[in-house]
Amino acid sequence: MKLAKRITGLTGGGSDGWDVFYRARAMKAGGTEVTELTIGEHDVRTDPVILDAMHRAAMEGYTGYSMFNGHFSLRSRVAERVSARTGVPTGPDNVLVVPGGQAGLFATHHAACDEGDRALYIDPYYATYPGTIRAVGAEPVAIRARPERNFQPDPAEIAAQADGAASLLVNTPNNPTGVVYTRDTLEGIAQVARDNDLWLISDEVYDTQVWQGAHVSPRALPDMADRTLVVGSMSKSHAMTGSRIGWVVGPEEAIAHMGNLATHTTYGVAAFIQEAACYALDLGADFEEKIAAPFRRRRDLALNLLEGQSAVRAIPADGAMYVMLDIRATGLSGEHFANMLLDTHHVAVMPGESFGQAAAGHLRVALTVEDDALAAALEKLVALAREAAG
Ligand code: PMP
Repeated sequence: MKLAKRITGLTGGGSDGWDVFYRARAMKAGGTEVTELTIGEHDVRTDPVILDAMHRAAMEGYTGYSMFNGHFSLRSRVAERVSARTGVPTGPDNVLVVPGGQAGLFATHHAACDEGDRALYIDPYYATYPGTIRAVGAEPVAIRARPERNFQPDPAEIAAQADGAASLLVNTPNNPTGVVYTRDTLEGIAQVARDNDLWLISDEVYDTQVWQGAHVSPRALPDMADRTLVVGSMSKSHAMTGSRIGWVVGPEEAIAHMGNLATHTTYGVAAFIQEAACYALDLGADFEEKIAAPFRRRRDLALNLLEGQSAVRAIPADGAMYVMLDIRATGLSGEHFANMLLDTHHVAVMPGESFGQAAAGHLRVALTVEDDALAAALEKLVALAREAAG
C-alpha cells in the first residue's frame, strides 16, 4: 500500500546520526564494558516521592480521561512559575499541558506553519527538529551557528533567511552545544522575529540547568509575548523523562487552537501524571537544583580536566547536560574520531555531525555517568586526540 509522503519523508532519509550509539549498545549486549556518554538522560531515576504522589493520585481515582488541555491546577502552577521566572504576566489560559517537550515542538510548529511554509532552526540542533518541521508539512531551513562565535547564532545570518518564513526555532540552554544564548544574541533574534513577522518558538527544556550567566526567555523581551511560543518540560528539570509531561506557553488564542489539536491527537495527558507534576513543581527550586547539581559538578570537572592541552578545545558549556568538544586539531571528523574512540577505548560519545554540519569536527559529551567514570573517559579521549594530532 502506498504511504503518505508526509510520513515516509519525515526523517529526511540517510543516516540518523546515531550509529555510534547503536554500535555501543551492540558492544554492551555482547559483554564489552562501554562508557556511554551519548544520550541526554539522567543517571538517576524519577524521585520516589514523585512516584508516591503519582501512585496516590491513581489510587484516588485520577485514572479516567483528563482535561485534554491540562488540569487547571497544573496550568495555574506552570503559569505562576513562568510569571515568577520571567516577569511576563502569564495565566492558566496561556498554558497548554502536553505529553513532553517533543509534543510541544510538534504542536507549536503546527500552530505556526502552514503547508509548505519555511520554518527556520539553528544548526547544530536537537535531532528531532527537522523531522518535526516536516511532520507538519513545512520546509526545514537550517541556519548555522558557528564555532568561531562559540555557537552563538548570528542574528544577521538569520535575517538573511527570514524573508517569507513562518517561524524560527531556538533552544537555550542548548542541546547539543551546552551554550546559553546571551541577552544580546536573544535581542538580535527577537528583532529579526519582529522585523519579519515570525513566530519565535523557544525550546527552554533545559531552563533549570544554567551554570554561568542567566537564562533569558525571549518571551520576556519587548513586544515578544504575542509572537513567542515557549516549549517547557519536566523531563530534564525533574528527571521525569518517562512520564512525558511538558507544556507550551503562548498567547491565549494560539493556546486555545493548540488545545483543539490536543483533542484531535493525544486527547490529553494521563491525569495521575498531571497530579504528580503538580506535586513535583511544589517541591520548589531546591529540588530542581538537586537534580541539576551533578551536571554542574561534572561540567566543572570536564572543563578543568581539559585545561592546559591543545588537542581538544571545550566550547564554553554554560548550561544543559553536555559539553561540546572541538577536535578539529586532530584533522579528523567527529564521526571518525568517535568511532575510533569507541573501538580503541570503549568510550561512546556523539559525533558533532549527528547534530548538523555546523558541529562537524566536534564531539558532544553527555555528562550522564558518575564523576570518576567521566574523568577516566575524558582522559582517554584527550590521549587519543593528542595521538591523532601528532
Ligand atoms: N528539546 C531538546 C533540546 C531536547 O534535548 C529534548 C530531549 N532530549 C526535548 C526537546 C524533548 O524532551 P521531552 O520530550 O522529553 O520533554
